[in-house]
Amino acid sequence: MALFPYSRLSSGFYCGNRRQLLLLCVCVLAGLIYFMAAKRISAVSTFPTPVLSEERQARLEGKDLPTTTPWGAPLVWGDSESSTRRRNKFALGHAQVGLAVLAVGNYNRFLRNFLSSAEHNFLLNVLVTYYVLTDKPRELDPPPTMGPTRNLRIIPVAEMPGWTRLSLRRTILLASIVKEQIHQDVDYVYCADVDQEFMNPVGTEILGRLTATLHPEFFGRPRHSYPYETDPDSLAYVADEEGDYYYTSEFYGGLCSEVLAMLQACSLLILQDQDRGVQAQQLEESYLNRYLVNRKPTCVLSPEYSWWESPQTPDIPTQRLHSIGRQCLATGKMKEDTVAC
Ligand code: UDP
Ligand code: MN
Repeated sequence: MALFPYSRLSSGFYCGNRRQLLLLCVCVLAGLIYFMAAKRISAVSTFPTPVLSEERQARLEGKDLPTTTPWGAPLVWGDSESSTRRRNKFALGHAQVGLAVLAVGNYNRFLRNFLSSAEHNFLLNVLVTYYVLTDKPRELDPPPTMGPTRNLRIIPVAEMPGWTRLSLRRTILLASIVKEQIHQDVDYVYCADVDQEFMNPVGTEILGRLTATLHPEFFGRPRHSYPYETDPDSLAYVADEEGDYYYTSEFYGGLCSEVLAMLQACSLLILQDQDRGVQAQQLEESYLNRYLVNRKPTCVLSPEYSWWESPQTPDIPTQRLHSIGRQCLATGKMKEDTVAC
């Protein structure tokens, strides 16, 4: 390796002059600093890395994975040829992308790991701005190290922690931030739950006018098993003859105008239901699914982009976005205030 020229010497002894000795010392010192920095970075990721079991890998081999939806939108698997084509197409443009994430109360503990995993895997070499909506802006002081094509915008929010309250407020909050700020700055915006981490590359194959991600527990399952809202009083209600896929609320996005339209429509339904004392079973995920029945996404991400290990989740080629929170639920550990859950 060019970094260590002396390793090529045939004799086991170093016998250069003083300048060479000095250079060797600098190299050793640089190596030491590099090694210590690498240790620090790996210490940041405190969550265990899920590994696809050999059994799951074997079950996958030879399986034909669907690559388009019935309405002709791509169904995206990161390593497919059509994903390569999509990445090549976007490589010619200079899309600017926002990644919006909400961290309130004890969910702030997920933030640094989420951002550091995005630095390693999310839209590398693309101009990305992270929009962090948080009640604890100091948690990111000092800010995490970021690549040259990345920006960080911290948006203080005066939100009360609490899962039920936030589940009704999240969509409204995101709609207002997309409208007031994100829409002015970038072309695309993606919204993600903070209790997730990027495990493998997520590239420009995810870009589309309106992108939604398949909920892994309902991928390949019959329509009647989908947890669409069944209460006809709720504005999230989906009738038996409607619907094609069930999407997760953990990761979605698209052009700012499309995402804003979706967030505003869902906010309105949520507020109207709230006024009448009605609440959909799956909270904003129900409203999101209601909207996507009518306005079909132009890009559908496979469960590679929302995954956790559970008996209900399918075998997938690559885990790209892993949900720590849902993994904890699946393993029976409720959302405790521990490092991993
Ligand atoms: N969230 C938060 N604080 C809370 C509850 C939720 O910041 O007290 C945010 C956070 O981004 C979280 C998202 O809302 O990832 C969705 O909540 P959660 O992950 O609990 O929902 P689930 O994935 O179980 O639907
Ligand atoms: Mn979540």
